[in-house]
Amino acid sequence: MSMFCFQCQETAKGTGCTVSGVCGKKDDLARRMDVLIYLCKGISTLSLELNNKGITTPEVNPFILNSLFQTITNANFDKAAITKSIYHGLELKRKLLKLANENGVDINKLPEAATWDANTEEEIQAKETEVGVLTTKDEDIRSLRELVVYGVKGMAAYAEHAHNLGFVDEDIYNFMKKALASTLDNSLSINDLINLVLQTGEYGVKTMALLDKANTTKYGNPEITKVDLGVRNNPGILVSGHDLLDLEELLIQTEGTGIDVYTHGEMLPAHYYPYFKKFKHFAGNYGNAWWKQREEFETFNCPILFTTNCIVPPFEKATYKDRIYTTGAAGLDGAMHIADRENGKMKFRRDFVLDQKNLVLIVEDVITTGYSVQEVIEVVEETGAKIIGIGILVDRSGGRIQFKYTFHPLLQMEVKTYPPDECPLCQEHVELQKRGSRNLLTNP
Ligand code: SF4
Repeated sequence: MSMFCFQCQETAKGTGCTVSGVCGKKDDLARRMDVLIYLCKGISTLSLELNNKGITTPEVNPFILNSLFQTITNANFDKAAITKSIYHGLELKRKLLKLANENGVDINKLPEAATWDANTEEEIQAKETEVGVLTTKDEDIRSLRELVVYGVKGMAAYAEHAHNLGFVDEDIYNFMKKALASTLDNSLSINDLINLVLQTGEYGVKTMALLDKANTTKYGNPEITKVDLGVRNNPGILVSGHDLLDLEELLIQTEGTGIDVYTHGEMLPAHYYPYFKKFKHFAGNYGNAWWKQREEFETFNCPILFTTNCIVPPFEKATYKDRIYTTGAAGLDGAMHIADRENGKMKFRRDFVLDQKNLVLIVEDVITTGYSVQEVIEVVEETGAKIIGIGILVDRSGGRIQFKYTFHPLLQMEVKTYPPDECPLCQEHVELQKRGSRNLLTNP
């Protein structure tokens, strides 16, 4: 047995995936995810100890949310991304341990998950064999602990979507940490754990209500909607998953470009929200259920964006592999992961990590002001990675924009731009319909 995972209904023979996952998860990735979960439990324990001393640890919640989200079924098949999350978590844990030491927390009484450290691939690999599901020998205790962990993973996914829309609930975050830490507590009886499972269910409902509030506040109440099927003649982008904020940003960014946006599989319900109906290029739904993607993506000859868990790893000979993009907790080995924004500023977050060892080529399709590329330059420079050049398809500044790195546009053209008070259309009182692709001011 090279792995053990029984977290979903796809599990082999209804008992557990032991060689590789029915979902496509390989054994090495499964073992690496076991380490990430172990780390989340240790970090939760430390964070609670610090909270008891009156110390808040705001970095912990985003880490727990994203890490757990990465490990749910069909979300992330990129071992490098999981490993980066582990290194990120280890760094966070060192910081918490330092705080704990400085504030009188008795480290010696904490479980090993709270103090374990690693600096190399070999050390992480060695840990994989010590921390999987089967390390809890008693079957009943194991099942109850895992029920709690899976419930908390679901909460993490919902809570992260809500968080991205600006809705947070500290009570939920605290429960998640308490629940994770409790799975390390060998003093808990079966009855204690049954109560914890029931409480996990209650908090799961609370988290769903939080996400519902976030979605309906931002996008309106879902209503019965007729959704177009099939495709139009324009270039398109296919979006799958559940992250409505990603969909919104994509629709704003593509508006007026001649590109149509289609949903696939689990993104279909987005059409029911009134907000999205204003986008004329939100063209409809393409294809069938998420698990039919291996056939359906072959015939959709445009980019495919996975925003959450609904990924089936493509076959080796699949023609669409180089058209796959991921955001947030989603990941796929070989696919492009897209940088996020925070407070309007571009940022690598959700565990996309660069360091001094990485060489970076920045590539953009079209530049007008060069502002977005400059933002990427800044976030890459902050990581210490080395930028080796910038490639652009179309430079609409006519050559006025220069960067401090080697810069190659394939096409240069002059597109006239005006300061606001010199715009001839404004002087003719032509109504403003869209304020550029960045939407920093018009995006509510
Ligand atoms: S998540 Fe994948 S590996 Fe785990 S039980 Fe489900 S199908 Fe098996």
